Amino acid sequence: MTQVSTSLIDKDIVEASCVIDDKYSITMGDERFYGMIGKELPNSLLTLIYSDDKEIFCNFILDIQINNPIVIRVKVKNGTYRWMLAQKLNVNCEKEHTEINLMFHDIVIQNSKFKSYYDNIRKYRTFMNYVQDKFFEYEFSIGVITIYMYINGRCEVFEKDSLDEWEKRILRLGFVEAADVDMFRRLCSNIRDGVDVFGINVHTSLMSKGFRMDTLNFRGETIVNATGKVMVAGLITEMNGRYDLKSIMIGNDANKDSATGLLNKRAVTDDIHDTIQNANTNKDSKKMFLIIIDIDNFKSVNDTYGHRFGDEVIADFASELRRTVGERGIAGRIGGDEFMCLLTDYNSVEEVRVFLTAIRSKLRIELAKKNPEYTFTVSIGISTYPDNATDYDTLFKLADRCLYIAKEKGKDRFIIYTPEIHGDLINGDTKLKNLHICSNFMKPIDKLEMIASFNDKLLQEGRAALDDVFEDIMNQMDIHGILLFDKNKNCDKIFGHYKGADIDGAFLKDDKYMKLFDEHGVNVIFNTSAVSGDFPKAYAIFSQADICSTLQIKIIKDGVFLGIICFDTFGEYKRKWSETDICTMYMFVRIIANVY
Ligand code: GH3
Ligand code: MG
Repeated sequence: MTQVSTSLIDKDIVEASCVIDDKYSITMGDERFYGMIGKELPNSLLTLIYSDDKEIFCNFILDIQINNPIVIRVKVKNGTYRWMLAQKLNVNCEKEHTEINLMFHDIVIQNSKFKSYYDNIRKYRTFMNYVQDKFFEYEFSIGVITIYMYINGRCEVFEKDSLDEWEKRILRLGFVEAADVDMFRRLCSNIRDGVDVFGINVHTSLMSKGFRMDTLNFRGETIVNATGKVMVAGLITEMNGRYDLKSIMIGNDANKDSATGLLNKRAVTDDIHDTIQNANTNKDSKKMFLIIIDIDNFKSVNDTYGHRFGDEVIADFASELRRTVGERGIAGRIGGDEFMCLLTDYNSVEEVRVFLTAIRSKLRIELAKKNPEYTFTVSIGISTYPDNATDYDTLFKLADRCLYIAKEKGKDRFIIYTPEIHGDLINGDTKLKNLHICSNFMKPIDKLEMIASFNDKLLQEGRAALDDVFEDIMNQMDIHGILLFDKNKNCDKIFGHYKGADIDGAFLKDDKYMKLFDEHGVNVIFNTSAVSGDFPKAYAIFSQADICSTLQIKIIKDGVFLGIICFDTFGEYKRKWSETDICTMYMFVRIIANVY
């Protein structure tokens, strides 16, 4: 007992033992014990135990039922604390004084031991590429637990939080079955305390973020590195089947777009891809809708209202999208102002329409509260599984091209891919081209034929057919919007999605402006900004409504002026009206005059 080891980091000092009584007085210690704590023998072993660990140590000593070792921090001879595994070797209560024989293992000492632990971690990580197990680490120095998982061979962080916060959160969210709450607490304290080796089963939904209860087996070991940093590392194994990958991914920060909290491009693409694959594997013929959404004129939102407002628009849209999609699909951000969803729980196109209308109107109202000047619109392309295609790539292309058509047709609309209308969009079939330059592709005779068919319809159905005929001519002639002014030049009908609150016909009451109309009552303005100097009133209306070019034709019947129809395009789409098209539209207005 006189020989005292001079070096703590000595390969021999791995374990030391002592005997204490029920007052924690040290009655005996072996050589290594004194080597560990120094020559100054304290009255009570308790004075050597780190304050936070005293309670657990006292419980450990007083409760003879506790036989498992505990990990505590013990002050050693240089005044620092070291992690020790304390084990009860023997408890003798028969004599007058209780004697407890304790063994301490310094778990921070051996580099070689550390190395083998670290090799184990590497092994875990390699191994984890092949299994569904998750891997966790806890770093004492920062008190942070990290749970990793492997998705397609990539190591992803599933959770990273302070252990205390994580424990509280998981319990608060009710992710642990009531009967297992104590077990879960034990798990957390084992990790916190650095228990050498532990294995605990908990019935919990923490892996699926509340979706499904799994029995999880946590196996951990306390390990150390060369600098004395202690960590706990271990595996989480699911004991009953597989995790729901989708719900895991939703909760995984690494898969999130940080600005919106939605899945990021890679994650949403993978997830939708996998969902479609699964449906194929399971021969599931339930409909799913792939939706691509792009906010309209977002560049000018930034330019006009500032980048910060732009960011708010994106964040608001994202949270509305997340709320509306909810559990009924997958949603993510795939670009600056572009989003993608897969709706898995909608049965019909009608339901999808309701979904889209809900988001659009909600956002319009919400954003108008923040900035009354701003009208929120989006363009949307949609494809349907399995009707249109059964593979992700084709479904994506179809939805993307429908989005393009929606933009071309004047934005603020959704286009659901319909082969009969849109043709083969994948192999560059004619109908896509027709949709934006259709009037150039249609032969003059076909245009006349079209007008004749409108005439027939109007003759048969009268004024009631007007709305249909206007919608049709917009589609056929690539017109984004139509304004109809009555004989008093008040706005009577609006087709298409004009911006701004109301369209005022006052500019048409200006004689100077009306001189722009030729002898047939036709006025073509290729680029509306060209009139800003001469006709500021008209220009104000055009720019407020985002009218880029306009063809205006007087409705005249038997020499009587009945009104004016404006055929407009929006945004930056400057419509070049050919002579034939002007004639076609002139004829169109003539037949309208018959019923107007
Ligand atoms: P379109 O109507 O045809 O969709 O045109 P657009 O002006 O919306 O332009 P486009 O969709 O092609 O480009 C989106 C623009 O959004 C590009 C960039 O200036 C802006 N943007 C992208 N990400 C962000 C962001 O995180 N915040 C803000 N404020 N702006 C962004
Ligand atoms: Mg956009």
